[in-house]
Amino acid sequence: MTTSSIVTLLVRTATSVPPSVPDTADPKYRKMRTIPSCRESGLDRMNNTQIAEVFENIAGLLEIKGERRFVVVSYQRAARTIDHLPTELEQMVREEEDLKQIPGIGKAIAGKITQLATEGKMDFYEKLRGEFPDGILDVMRVPGVGPKSAKRLWDELDVTTVEALEAVASDGRLAALPRMGPKKAKNILKEIAAARTKGDRVPIARALPAAERVIGALKERCPSIVRIEPAGSLRRFEETIGDIDIVCTATDPQNVLDTLVELPNVASVLAHGEKKSAVVLSEGVQVDLRVVDDSQFGALLQYFTGDKQHNIRLRELAVRQGLSVNEYGIKDTETGETESFTDESAMYERLGLQYIPPELRRGTDEIDRARQHSIPRLVEVSDLKGDLHVHTEWSDGRDATEMMVVAARERGYEYVAITDHSAGRGIANGLSIERLEEHIREIRQLEDRLGDIKLLAGSEVDIRADGSLDYPDDALDELDWVVASVHSGMGQDAGTMTARIIKAMHSPHVTAVGHLTTRMIGERKPIEADFESIFEAAAKTGTALEINASPRRLDLKDTHAHRARELGVPLVIDSDAHDAESLDNQRCGVAVARRAWCEPKHILNTLPVDSFIKYLDTDKPDRPQFLAEHG
Ligand SMILES: [Zn+2]
Ligand SMILES: [Zn+2]
Repeated sequence: MTTSSIVTLLVRTATSVPPSVPDTADPKYRKMRTIPSCRESGLDRMNNTQIAEVFENIAGLLEIKGERRFVVVSYQRAARTIDHLPTELEQMVREEEDLKQIPGIGKAIAGKITQLATEGKMDFYEKLRGEFPDGILDVMRVPGVGPKSAKRLWDELDVTTVEALEAVASDGRLAALPRMGPKKAKNILKEIAAARTKGDRVPIARALPAAERVIGALKERCPSIVRIEPAGSLRRFEETIGDIDIVCTATDPQNVLDTLVELPNVASVLAHGEKKSAVVLSEGVQVDLRVVDDSQFGALLQYFTGDKQHNIRLRELAVRQGLSVNEYGIKDTETGETESFTDESAMYERLGLQYIPPELRRGTDEIDRARQHSIPRLVEVSDLKGDLHVHTEWSDGRDATEMMVVAARERGYEYVAITDHSAGRGIANGLSIERLEEHIREIRQLEDRLGDIKLLAGSEVDIRADGSLDYPDDALDELDWVVASVHSGMGQDAGTMTARIIKAMHSPHVTAVGHLTTRMIGERKPIEADFESIFEAAAKTGTALEINASPRRLDLKDTHAHRARELGVPLVIDSDAHDAESLDNQRCGVAVARRAWCEPKHILNTLPVDSFIKYLDTDKPDRPQFLAEHG
């Protein structure tokens, strides 16, 4: 493989992106699909993700049409902003809020959103779609094609689908076109094949351990490594990961690159050069490893962390200062000199910015906030003083109560709630009233015996289909901490589900609601519900909402946690551990909270044990106020 083809393969830049931007983008920018109509989903209203997709498609179609760059960018930016909004646009429109107050949403786009939200269609989009064949966006989004080639292939070879593209790339017709050639045809075929075998993005629950295994193995085998970090969507803690980007510095770079391609779980080698290697692991995840000089580490890590929109905005800011940002550092446009950075914070500082944590880098308002130095100190794992959702062998956990408690104590916690399942959970070995009482006795005795950690006798109580709880009130009265969760009847319509959850929140015994949406990333869809009403009820009733830290769940997700925080709902970060090691899930929950701009004061289980007990002694409706004063 020649160097240039390796570069082409590695860069795999989405076509809507200037060539110097890394491939750390959202799946929407590269995913293959046709142009859907607005209401194809069959839902009676459009959520933000669907609205964002419409704007993303508009940007793509305008690019093919040859529209001016800034117009295309304004739609891409709007799509990105909408996708990350904590509030549903449909609701904002319904409540006649001014959409123009959202950064990146001007008058024209606000008008288009309003039409989409109220009528379920947008005249502008419908007209634009009508000018193109359905599959043109798929063709354009094949890496190496892009808007100009997509237009040419459509005009000259009548290519309107990926299948047709594959055909003309195989039979020599594409190669015969001026400025195309056999190399381009070959690369396009490779990209189509890669997209088919690779499928969509990988849930973070699979990507995270895969990345850690690779990094661990490299560290163990390559003593010359100085620094090694994951970058890209994994470092930003997106729910799903495209490729695992790893950035490394070492005194013997070639040894690190050679070691990667020889790791036992490498299924195939896509590229192997002097600065980077790319492999596919047997788990089906692609790993791109880049090794640079230590003086360039900060710039490279920043560059490959993204996200795309964040980096575009950062570059725009730099340009206004007569500078240009690239993967090697910051170049002074006048002198042509490039300043390199060993760490990221110095690089942000050079641009007049406060350091921006990776979880916040998504091109919304974080750069403005960093200019004003108003990014708060986000919550960290070390802020957590307890874990309030833990299972033991009494229900479906693996380990004994004592083992879980000792493991929690080792993590520095001052308190832990043992929350095994209630009786209705036949499959999860839920506790009958008799076993619950026996378990409470065990927990009390254990607390006395250990003497240096507060134990809360708790339960994860099922919220039944009608909103009633799975234990009677007198049993719940015995408990210190009650997590109420939905585990069945998840297909209820939104109205029924909303009422069901809010009814449970009105119980004076329910201290928190667990994994609100019940989704499993990439496995199970979330429930349908009116989340705004649920958050309002949580604030009003003083019911905490959980950020379930299991990487398969991450529930609440970032945008929900953001909105709940805005409404003053106490949030808890819980591991939902079913074995001692999974207590470490907390870092994933903390990452979600950080993506929601949560500070320690927003998270209930950052309270020291004394304050936490006072919180529980407070009348339930007054608890949000207590946290606001003592957090
Ligand atoms: Zn549960
Ligand atoms: Zn649980």
